[in-house]
Amino acid sequence: MEINGHTRTCGLIGNPVEHTMSPLIHNTLAQKLSRNLVYVPFHVEQGQVADAVKGAYALNVLGLNVTVPYKSEVIAGLSQIDELAQKIGAVNTLVRVEDGFKGYNTDMPGLYRAMCSEGIELEGEDVVLLGAGGAARAVAFLCASKNVSRVYLLNRSVDKAQAVAKEVNEKTGKECIYPMALADYRMLPDKKFLAIQATSVGLYPDVDKAVIENRDFYQKIHTGYDLIYKPLQTKFMKLVKDQGGNAFHGLKMLLYQGIIAYELWNQLSVSEEMALEVYEILKENWK
Ligand code: NAP
Repeated sequence: MEINGHTRTCGLIGNPVEHTMSPLIHNTLAQKLSRNLVYVPFHVEQGQVADAVKGAYALNVLGLNVTVPYKSEVIAGLSQIDELAQKIGAVNTLVRVEDGFKGYNTDMPGLYRAMCSEGIELEGEDVVLLGAGGAARAVAFLCASKNVSRVYLLNRSVDKAQAVAKEVNEKTGKECIYPMALADYRMLPDKKFLAIQATSVGLYPDVDKAVIENRDFYQKIHTGYDLIYKPLQTKFMKLVKDQGGNAFHGLKMLLYQGIIAYELWNQLSVSEEMALEVYEILKENWK
């Protein structure tokens, strides 16, 4: 691709950003859609997020993604915020508007599009959600907004599970999130669940760990969705499959949160066919 005087810039702010696969997603899309756009990682030091956002605006940057640890902190420097991102309290995409950047959350709709693409339904489901960090909060909002039957929200620190459940139930007006201590997983009702793994346990390099190791738990799981995408086969996924369930990793979620950001920046829609072409390239370049 030729970089010239008309090239627009998008990028990722976070710390660290050196491991990111996002440039591959966005630069592939730009190439395939013949857009004069480049996407680059920007390593931002603690305490400099507001300056980074201001500087990006001054430099005519079209849009930014935001990753850990700045998804909440970045909000203070925005001129506008989308309603969904406001509810979730986390922003991972900034879109240039007249007077600054508008913040969006594409993690949650990205996960939804990834689940639809895998044929996973949420409506009426009984869900076990493992974790109560930033990602789990977005998943809890997604589950409530898609009318699941119930979500059992299990976390090591039960106070965090309780806080997320209270907030999501209040903000969505649906009393569907039930907090539990992770250690109490044996008290789950005798049903078959969709389990969504949103803890950081099992993430590279700790690939030999799963947040729950007991095989009895996995007998209750018909489908396991791990948000982790490094490695592509997690211990959690293996345990689900060993007990006869279907298991998925989080690479498609990563893909679709990127695609939705790209759609917002360029005001276009990316076809499912194109998304799957980019997905193949992501997998081929997987390290
Ligand atoms: P986070 O805010 O740091 O939350 C971490 C969660 O993991 C907390 O619930 C924490 O429990 C739990 N946890 C950590 N160590 C544990 C242990 N030894 N035993 C039990 N629980 C433990 O992280 P996050 O941003 O929510 O991310 C969570 C995962 O989702 C990460 O692996 C990340 O890679 C993945 N993710 C994927 C995508 C994607 O696009 N696919 C997007 C976002 C995140 P406590 O509260 O008790 O500490």
